[in-house]
Amino acid sequence: MRGLYIHIPFCKSKCYYCDFNSIIDNAIQDEYIKALIQEIELYKEIKFDTIFIGGGTPTILSINNLKKLLLTIKNFYPKEFTIECNPGTLSQEKLKLLKEFGINRLSIGLQSIDNNILKSIGRIHTFEEFLQNYYWARQLGFKNINIDIMYNLPNQSAKEFMNGLQTVLELKPEHISCYSLIIEEETKFWELYNQNKLNLLDEDEERYIYKKINQLLNKYGYYQYEISNYAKEGYECKHNIIYWTDEEYIGVGAGAHSYFDNKRFNNTADVREYIKNINCTKTARENIEQIDEATHISEYIILGLRMNKGISVLEFKNKFKIDINDIFKKEIDKLLLEGLIEKKGENIRLTEKGRDLSNLVFVNFLK
Ligand code: SF4
Repeated sequence: MRGLYIHIPFCKSKCYYCDFNSIIDNAIQDEYIKALIQEIELYKEIKFDTIFIGGGTPTILSINNLKKLLLTIKNFYPKEFTIECNPGTLSQEKLKLLKEFGINRLSIGLQSIDNNILKSIGRIHTFEEFLQNYYWARQLGFKNINIDIMYNLPNQSAKEFMNGLQTVLELKPEHISCYSLIIEEETKFWELYNQNKLNLLDEDEERYIYKKINQLLNKYGYYQYEISNYAKEGYECKHNIIYWTDEEYIGVGAGAHSYFDNKRFNNTADVREYIKNINCTKTARENIEQIDEATHISEYIILGLRMNKGISVLEFKNKFKIDINDIFKKEIDKLLLEGLIEKKGENIRLTEKGRDLSNLVFVNFLK
């Protein structure tokens, strides 16, 4: 499997928790798309199984720019073709265009069903706008939709969150991503957090919600296949699974990361610089890093453990020609004893406790 990630770094305004590579200067959208298309053209001989257009806010693109971008990739024919959508930037016309060009998966950022909370985290849309977009998408025949929802938002109780999740479940999306708020540096919430002005849940409450989420989603037929991701059988996000299972991907656009030919590299994150570099030299690559064996092994284990099925000891041996126990026996025994990982068949995976404390598990495999 191989994936193509396309980054659209524009947003209408900046959400208060967000540290993604996005700007609100939309005046350079045309120039950006022109450069992006030049970069995509470099990869047109490569076969991609998945394409993911993310951001930023891809659906902020004008119809004209969206069309130009989709025309460039129209002959790539991926199995899964996703675009991230932000309510408040979608229209029926845009959705029709996406359908026409073969996009078969929408990932819609809802975050909360409470309009006061949406406003307090800097989102540009209401729950009603989201609903309108969702119904349009269903009417137009989109059969694979993910809804992003967040918990542990300021002034949101566990009960309010669970009621919101119940409402989302009634819409019957095929996939739900459920993220806990993380306070990232250089965001508005970072400032407020450091001034003690954010009313958040404590760790026990957060853990309690996480358990409740798992129970409720299981009850409704969604299975957890990764720490924050739940799907109906067969609707797991193939593109994200590429990241977690050591498969190759190319990222195009400002700041996009790639893992290809045993190397990691990324494009320059500054949008203007990206455009300049592509126009002058046809590339915006920087930080090309050859992955050494020890790093490769660590990444393979840490990313693999994010998946509920964990890592296969057999596949590990086939891939690296060494038994995982020859390198990490001490760590594995300790984590088994602490009940943070378990053996299931020939797989090693996180337990429920391990998923709660995943970072504590992952540090054991850093080399
Ligand atoms: S819409 Fe998405 S990318 Fe843009 S600021 Fe909000 S969270 Fe960040």
